[in-house]
Amino acid sequence: MKYTSTRNKQIKVGAAQAIAQGISKEGGLFVPEVLPALGNERLEDLIHKTYQERACDILEDFLDDFTPAELRECVQGAYGGQKFADPRIAPMSRLDRDIYMLELWHGPTCAFKDMALQLLPHLLTRSVEKVSKGKEVVILVATSGDTGKAALEGFRDVPGTEILVFYPQNGVSKIQKLQMQTQEGQNVGVCGVCGNFDDTQTGVKTIFTDHALRERLAGKNMMFSSANSINWGRLVPQIVYYVSAYCDLVKNEQIALGDTVNVAVPTGNFGNILAAYYAKRMGLPIHRFICASNVNKVLADFIETGVYDRRREFVATSSPSMDILISSNLERLLFELHDGDDKAVSKLMRQLSEQGAYTVSERVRAKLQSEFSGGYCDEAETAATIRKFQHDYDYLCDTHTAVALKVHGDYEKKTGDDTKTIVVSTANPFKFTGSMLDALGGSEGGGEFAQAEKLAEMTGTEIPPQIKALRGKPVRFDQVCKKAAMTGVVERLLKL
Ligand SMILES: *Cc1c(COP(=O)(O)O)cnc(C)c1O
Repeated sequence: MKYTSTRNKQIKVGAAQAIAQGISKEGGLFVPEVLPALGNERLEDLIHKTYQERACDILEDFLDDFTPAELRECVQGAYGGQKFADPRIAPMSRLDRDIYMLELWHGPTCAFKDMALQLLPHLLTRSVEKVSKGKEVVILVATSGDTGKAALEGFRDVPGTEILVFYPQNGVSKIQKLQMQTQEGQNVGVCGVCGNFDDTQTGVKTIFTDHALRERLAGKNMMFSSANSINWGRLVPQIVYYVSAYCDLVKNEQIALGDTVNVAVPTGNFGNILAAYYAKRMGLPIHRFICASNVNKVLADFIETGVYDRRREFVATSSPSMDILISSNLERLLFELHDGDDKAVSKLMRQLSEQGAYTVSERVRAKLQSEFSGGYCDEAETAATIRKFQHDYDYLCDTHTAVALKVHGDYEKKTGDDTKTIVVSTANPFKFTGSMLDALGGSEGGGEFAQAEKLAEMTGTEIPPQIKALRGKPVRFDQVCKKAAMTGVVERLLKL
């Protein structure tokens, strides 16, 4: 299977090249030229398989320059052993009213990013071996909190890689910051940035496109790559869990094969929900995509009006992984909605970078609205939703997941569409203890560990061992820099 760029269809590369490179030279994102098909027969077959087997099956189609044996090794390395606390990897719990919570946070860092970032290092190092043998890969990450830790954990001490993570100094939770600052491993570096996530992401993009720096890296037999969700190697593992979730619903006789479901996704960079969209294009029976935003509701507005406008105040919320005004992966959806018109996508992306906004045509907006519903949830509603689900269902959901539950509830009320819905649960609530306690009325200050204990006690849940283990771990990285100094930090950490 070949991959092309959303901004230049002349470009055609294999999967390994797409993954090793991360982003296309002219700034476009790699997308598959055609999507593999998932018919009922194939789904029927997948129903009886384990998560790992389902993953291998789907990855084989997308990553056909890997052998099935290589993919099995990668998948085993990612999801095998004891890495995930739940052997089902992505278990679902049924709440009332036909809401199925797809819990994607049972991995080593307690956020859904593990689903992709446990696999990516395996795919990436093998990809580099295939296309640029012997090169050392430098992974640069801009994180709004969860990606950074998941990438550090995925890449730590992976031979032939270095990983450098930048996070917005005041844009992540205490636990997230501590998770990153205490990261172990010989090949890791972490630095805070004075600014918000968009500043941090823009800073990393600037480094990526710095030709002089690239030359110097090449001189040392190194190359940059990305672990952000723009990398195809991050997206493809995410397709797997939607297929797997559907198979589980059929297996447990909650739906019949062929029945449609809705998905509701707490959305930031648009990677997670885009994977569901690809799954649908492959043939997974999904009716509607419910795209949930917090008050940084640039996507909700876009879906409603067809106008994408990032020129607005950035608000730091209790769901920081969704505090994003430029949803990078939306570019891939635009490419699909424009039937692969690379010129049209390039033009929109240019307008976004030069003017901060763009408007899609009536036709594209209609297409978007025929499958996507957007909505948003403010801070008070997020807290109220956490309380409601704890009280009504004895189900503790984190702040991000609460946004999806609220927006899904609003959607159901407004449309009367009560199709069974997979609500994607993206983080363990103990990553955001401060906000959780605020929501549940148990806030009384104290350090992050006292807060975690309080939360556990109030809700009868357990602090995940990964978070307990942070206590007393030495801080290794407490450096903070200005946006303009990020390149210097990279040079220093890489000893260029
Ligand atoms: C990253 C993240 C999101 C947003 O996912 P996108 O793929 O960026 O849309 C939502 N919730 C949590 C907890 C996350 O870590």
